[in-house]
Amino acid sequence: MANPKHEYYETLGVPRKSDAEEIRKAYRKLARKYHPDLNPGDKSAEERFKNVQEAYDVLSDPKKRQMYDQFGFYSDSGFAGAGGPGAGQGPHPNMDFSGFDFSDFAGGAAGGGRRAQTAGAGGFRDIFSQFFGGRGAEAQPEPEKGGDLEYVMDIDFWQAIKGTTARVNITRYEVCETCHGTGSSGTGEVTCPQCKGTGHVSQMAGAMKFNLTCPRCGGSGKLSNACPTCGGDGRMTRTETVEIRIPPGARNGSRLRVPGKGNAGTHGAPPGDLYITTKVEEHAFFHRDGDNIEITVPLAVWEAGLGAKIEVPTIDGRTQLKIPQGTSNGQKFRLREKGVLNTRTNQRGDQIVEVAIQAPDPHDERTRELLREMAKLHPNDPRAEIWSKV
Ligand SMILES: [Zn+2]
Ligand SMILES: [Zn+2]
Repeated sequence: MANPKHEYYETLGVPRKSDAEEIRKAYRKLARKYHPDLNPGDKSAEERFKNVQEAYDVLSDPKKRQMYDQFGFYSDSGFAGAGGPGAGQGPHPNMDFSGFDFSDFAGGAAGGGRRAQTAGAGGFRDIFSQFFGGRGAEAQPEPEKGGDLEYVMDIDFWQAIKGTTARVNITRYEVCETCHGTGSSGTGEVTCPQCKGTGHVSQMAGAMKFNLTCPRCGGSGKLSNACPTCGGDGRMTRTETVEIRIPPGARNGSRLRVPGKGNAGTHGAPPGDLYITTKVEEHAFFHRDGDNIEITVPLAVWEAGLGAKIEVPTIDGRTQLKIPQGTSNGQKFRLREKGVLNTRTNQRGDQIVEVAIQAPDPHDERTRELLREMAKLHPNDPRAEIWSKV
């Protein structure tokens, strides 16, 4: 296409530090001056107009401009139709890039006879910003702090209570060892990793396949001075085994921060952090409620009636629990400091024991006799209180 040297600032006649408004003004002025309607048949004016349009297209888009400032080029719509090395890569629509978006200065353009292609040009511009938006972000020149990583770790009940050390495989961006994050090798050229040296990449947009000039290398297929290990990124993905120490008393959903174990930053920026969220499995009997342990234990009728000393399980082992005479079903007892150690307060929670009185299910005549005897001794209605209140 036109303007092969991509001297966009020179084309618009603006300094590199120009802001968006200066660029826009320069563009409007030059676009009017070289507009084909005002210069009928003037090939050089037409050429200038195209160059101005192209320059403005790149410099008016912050992402494209950033890429251009960094690499000294911006992929200038290297469609296969232009006859580049990618020509013949399957069917492609016949694209006409000579259409320009006049809407921006429609008021100033005299005559204004040729606006038919406006919509089409705008459409393609949208597609391009989609393509290169993402790519531009990858090629950020400024140092950027590495992203945080989130992992979920399953641990069982006892690991959570006692704490544990676990190994987790984490895939993260790491600083490239070859170039120490600079992305530069200091010597020679390497094959462009994005296009693998072909100079073009294909991209799908809906059902259409576009063949584009590689935005990384500008179509040369080579990157000068780039680190051959990481291809100039300064970072590489690596799967690493990280040892995670889960402190005693970890709760379900606890979030643990491992500083500096997130993705490496770019160009020497600090790395992000790694966050491990613990997912604690439920125990068959012990139920955790924060630092407290809840448990339901069965109680025989005579234990509840006469009182008893029973053994209940705790996370430390068996413990004696005194059941007072006349205990009712669902009553709760507190075993102080038999719960989970809280490493922040250095205090243990409690264990709450709920009793579930088991009804006798007599299979022998003697037991039935005893129960009948009890019934005779207590002829009062156990639901009397309810009746009095209903
Ligand atoms: Zn490297
Ligand atoms: Zn390339």
